[in-house]
Amino acid sequence: MKNKEWTEVSFEEVNCFRCGIKGHLLYNQGPFRVIECSQCGQVFISPRLKEIARKRMYENSGYFDEGIYGFSKKFSLALIPQKIWSYSRLNLIRHLLKGDIKGKKLLEIGCAYGLFLEISRQKGFEVTGIEYSYTAVKWIRKNLGLNVYYGEIEKIRLQENDYDIICFWDVIEHVEDPGLFLKSVSRIIKENGFIIFSCPYFNSLPASILKSKWWTLKPEQHLWHFTLNTLDMVFSDSKLQLIRVIKSPFSLVNFSRFDSIVGIAKKSKRIKG
Ligand SMILES: [Zn+2]
Repeated sequence: MKNKEWTEVSFEEVNCFRCGIKGHLLYNQGPFRVIECSQCGQVFISPRLKEIARKRMYENSGYFDEGIYGFSKKFSLALIPQKIWSYSRLNLIRHLLKGDIKGKKLLEIGCAYGLFLEISRQKGFEVTGIEYSYTAVKWIRKNLGLNVYYGEIEKIRLQENDYDIICFWDVIEHVEDPGLFLKSVSRIIKENGFIIFSCPYFNSLPASILKSKWWTLKPEQHLWHFTLNTLDMVFSDSKLQLIRVIKSPFSLVNFSRFDSIVGIAKKSKRIKG
């Protein structure tokens, strides 16, 4: 977990993004600390790596292995679950849209090397991606010719109420501020659109039993850890409503993942009167 490139100046202290308070210590994790907000229960890493150190990590070609996240002629065992998730999640989306996907606009935030985006395009979606790693953005543009923005959704001016589907697979735990992230999502999703995502959760069995040994803690990259409860709050803060959570590791959309969920959200209904 220690990286010789990190120095004291690579770290920053942060507060709960919802309540702005420091919170209390759950576990020490090397140079990192796992903190729980005493007010809302959100779990987060503080001190955490500063943006510049995290950026360096995502640009490293070893972080996203093309064999896993992209298209490779080499056979890779790791590609099997990636493909199971991608095809079954697309099937779920097709079901949500009642089969009507031709020309529908799909945005994937954190599209890595474009595996899911390319499959979505082949099924008839009009696809756009956003990716934080410039190495991956260049790769997609050159090899798949897809429309991908480089950077973070909070800093990209996208049209309001424009997307039928917005997906982010294992992304929300990595972002600088999940509140600002979801507000940007809420702004550009259509009134009747669907948000579909996956993320690890902190009240899962592996996380509860293994505590500081939980394999998904990864404090250098997972800055925020949600419980089902805090996820609900964070979505409603941004005028979004979680309408379904799939926890089962036997469901193909979440296959073999004992510590993660797939969630579906929509814009909250406006209260009349
Ligand atoms: Zn809080």
